[in-house]
Amino acid sequence: MGGGSGWETVIGLETHVQLRTVSKMFCGCSAAFGAPPNTNICPVCLGLPGALPMPNEHALKLAVRAALGLGCTVHPRSLFARKNYFYPDLPKGYQISQFENPLATDGSLSYLSPDRGIATATIVRLHVEEDAGKSLHDRFPKVTAVDLNRCGVPLIEIVTGPDFRSPQEARAYLLTLKQVLEYAGISDCDMEKGSLRVDANVSVRRAGDTALGTKTEVKNINSFAYVEKALSVERDRQIAALEGGGMVVQETMLYDAKTNSVRPQRRKEESHDYRYFPDPDLPPLVLSAELIAAQQTELPELPAAKRERFVAQYALSTTDAAVLTAERAVADYYESVVRAGAEPKAAANWVMGEVLADAKDHAERLRVPAAALAQLIALVRGGTVSHQAAKRVFVEVAERGGEPRTVAEALGLVQVADAGVLVGWVNDVLGAHTGEVSRYKSGETKLLQFFVGQVMRASRGKADPKVTQRLLEEKLAS
Ligand SMILES: [Zn+2]
Repeated sequence: MGGGSGWETVIGLETHVQLRTVSKMFCGCSAAFGAPPNTNICPVCLGLPGALPMPNEHALKLAVRAALGLGCTVHPRSLFARKNYFYPDLPKGYQISQFENPLATDGSLSYLSPDRGIATATIVRLHVEEDAGKSLHDRFPKVTAVDLNRCGVPLIEIVTGPDFRSPQEARAYLLTLKQVLEYAGISDCDMEKGSLRVDANVSVRRAGDTALGTKTEVKNINSFAYVEKALSVERDRQIAALEGGGMVVQETMLYDAKTNSVRPQRRKEESHDYRYFPDPDLPPLVLSAELIAAQQTELPELPAAKRERFVAQYALSTTDAAVLTAERAVADYYESVVRAGAEPKAAANWVMGEVLADAKDHAERLRVPAAALAQLIALVRGGTVSHQAAKRVFVEVAERGGEPRTVAEALGLVQVADAGVLVGWVNDVLGAHTGEVSRYKSGETKLLQFFVGQVMRASRGKADPKVTQRLLEEKLAS
């Protein structure tokens, strides 16, 4: 649901994901982001006469792995096809893609919908294709420049059914998809660098209607932050048009983040306008059962399964498990801390608190080794350092390294539990507060915490509070 009352929103997503490869899909050029314009190009990716494409085997393996991770059926035989259109950033005049007989079909992905709990998106198809170049409109005044470095960069396109009922659901699905692809090492899924791009088909219908309304395609959503905004703007535009007695025209809408608005690009081309036909330079893509099985083996435990295991194995709440498994590196780190001997719940609190906060400020690096964090947690549990002091030790180890115990000693943060030392501070405090001592003895026992506080102050926080309290009770009872 969502939007004006009485309307239902229907969204399907087409996500383009750049595969994590060193080289391009059909040539040896680098696929790296950020090279100077037009430096990673060759006759193949420029489509010069006589140049022949050769499929990148690693890219194909990653595509198969992605398909398996999304529960798709991988077809042992699929076809490369030419998608023909004219555009300045496409010197060949076509993109190599797949049309009929795609690599994989019929998958699904479960995600947590903010509206209706666990929901499942159908993955209609997943196919392999190459990217086009990039038109740069802001590099030189009044002219458009073209950078062909992206021509031929390997992509997969993942197409869902019209399964989402709100912009929020579409975003939740995308974040889950990103997690799965990152976990499986398929892509870095960085929308800002263009390695994950999403186009959305949006329509609305009266609640209760079963036929789909006329859809538009929303393009140019280039950040996760814009997904909900762009789709909400388009949904509201369609509802306003229909409520005003108008109609929705099937067309492509471009989202403008600066003005948070959409504008039409061009009438939606029907797919036959691309005049797809099998690429005569490329034989059918035949995948052996061994290759497919090997990629199944390469699939790691995926986020949903890991989350459930964390709940069962470490007795964590679903929320905590979701935080800890959101990124594979963090989940692996957490498990290393537990394996190094830390109590699971304490380790979870440290990782979700100090560790993630520190990583956020330091380019996502996990700066304190898992074994060191486990030792620090043990020091707190054993009463050697207080929890407050441990946070200071954590920062010091993150900045300069070292063993937590040595660092705690060097910083003078080791708690004093030795009664022979503590009794000196206890006597000083009692001697300096004779009034409070009399009040305590006449029944005002809540003053005990006042005395503990005074000893903590006198010891500059080093006194072990439990032993201190016991000593005070003994002294005041006599
Ligand atoms: Zn090339």
